[in-house]
Amino acid sequence: MAEPFTRAAIYLRISMDREMDGLAIDRQRADCLTIAETRGWAVVREYVDQSRSATDKTKRRPGYDDLVSGFEAGEFDAIICWDLDRLTRQPRQLEDWIDAAEARGLRLVTANGEADLTTDGGRLFARVKAAVARSEVERKTARQSAAQAQRAAQGRAPKGMRPVGYSVAGEIIEHEAEAVHAVFTAFNGGSSLRAIAAALSGETGERIPARVPALPRHTRTVTFERNSRRDEENKTLPPEKQRKLRPVPDEAPWPPSTVLGMLRNPRYAGYSTYTRKDGQLDGGKRRARRASILQGETGEPVRGQWKPIVDEGVWSSVQERLDSSERVTNRVGTDRRHLGSGLYRCGVCEQRVRGHTSRYRCAGHITRSREQIDAYVTAAIRARLACPDLADLLPNRNEPRLHEIKAEVGAHRAKIARAQRDYDAEVIEGRDLKRVRDHEEAAIKVLEAERLRLAANATAGAVLGAQDPVAAFDATDLGAQRAVIESLCQVRLHGHPRGVKAFNPDTVAIDWNK
Ligand SMILES: [Zn+2]
Repeated sequence: MAEPFTRAAIYLRISMDREMDGLAIDRQRADCLTIAETRGWAVVREYVDQSRSATDKTKRRPGYDDLVSGFEAGEFDAIICWDLDRLTRQPRQLEDWIDAAEARGLRLVTANGEADLTTDGGRLFARVKAAVARSEVERKTARQSAAQAQRAAQGRAPKGMRPVGYSVAGEIIEHEAEAVHAVFTAFNGGSSLRAIAAALSGETGERIPARVPALPRHTRTVTFERNSRRDEENKTLPPEKQRKLRPVPDEAPWPPSTVLGMLRNPRYAGYSTYTRKDGQLDGGKRRARRASILQGETGEPVRGQWKPIVDEGVWSSVQERLDSSERVTNRVGTDRRHLGSGLYRCGVCEQRVRGHTSRYRCAGHITRSREQIDAYVTAAIRARLACPDLADLLPNRNEPRLHEIKAEVGAHRAKIARAQRDYDAEVIEGRDLKRVRDHEEAAIKVLEAERLRLAANATAGAVLGAQDPVAAFDATDLGAQRAVIESLCQVRLHGHPRGVKAFNPDTVAIDWNK
């Protein structure tokens, strides 16, 4: 139906972002004009940005800025853009437009038909879309910083606090390395984190794994070392330039969480790591992330230049045991009546929320309406499942194949070892050794890339691997839906002002797993 007095602005943007090319301004304009024509809107102005990214807050987009001031000056009542990615990929800006749509009656439609901010459904879609877009950007940033870390890591151990077992320069510290090795062996043999921590702390007793030696607490050791380095430096400096020594933490038992950190550290298996910096999606809050394995161009793990302390096979089976025990003990638990109970976390204390009839609760922190949150999370999951790169995230634990890969990697390593022996025995030349090694290592890289892809959650695999993951998600049972959510993201609930009825998606933080 025609809406005769609507004045519309058209916003057009082309970007050099690779995923956005191929949609020239003329095509966008034609589609937008069709919308205006169909709705009977008068186009009063066109705003254009060329080659500007919508994701980077620091990059200026003059066309967009003019659009904002044009709206504030009341020059139009509707905006037409080709898709929401053209307009903005920043949830904050999108929220401003949604507010404008709600409060001032702005009409915002996209030519590709995906969002119409004049409807509830359109607004929900727009929010989910912006959240997903934002997370795509974060993933890209993570990949880029991974590339930088990779360059930096070549030949060098990562900076920062040294892990137990390695010096700052990445050399093995023998007695610590033995302890690390024993920790992995004990855990793989069924010891608990608590028992291992007790053994490291020098306790003795029945359940204490015997081969784990006592060690001073690592933070204490490291502080001593740092202080003595500083002390040496200070001797060469004038008094005003000398740096203060840090207080040494008291001797205390090892906490199980430190043992967990050791078991999770990929460096012990010789993998290079990086720690992702947080993006802005969850309101700038930072949270600890464990180091991830740095991956090369083809997804193969990047090797550090240091000597591994534990075998890769041991390391990955420890990860599998940790993953499954985390799932059993603190996650899903006994409370599985609702989509998010025991699964979503409290944004205040990080505990898993409990589900009640119509609410999710963390006592003393938050009480939220279940329906709104489940609708939002479900919409986000469905949008994620519809992403074309979903295959890259596929969890698909294929145990027999994992064993095959392990055996194949072993065979390739044996060939390298044999060539090395032949070289040492002067049977072959150095260039032959290099040729064999390059060849075998290339094959190992491919296998390891495959193993990384395979190592993931099995329950979710059925949905994620389906022909149509969105339909499979819709059709499956609650337990499998929960597994899908768990394998794709972490959901944190924040407080919501009392008495405010409108759902604010900023209060539900979805962090997509890498
Ligand atoms: Zn809480």
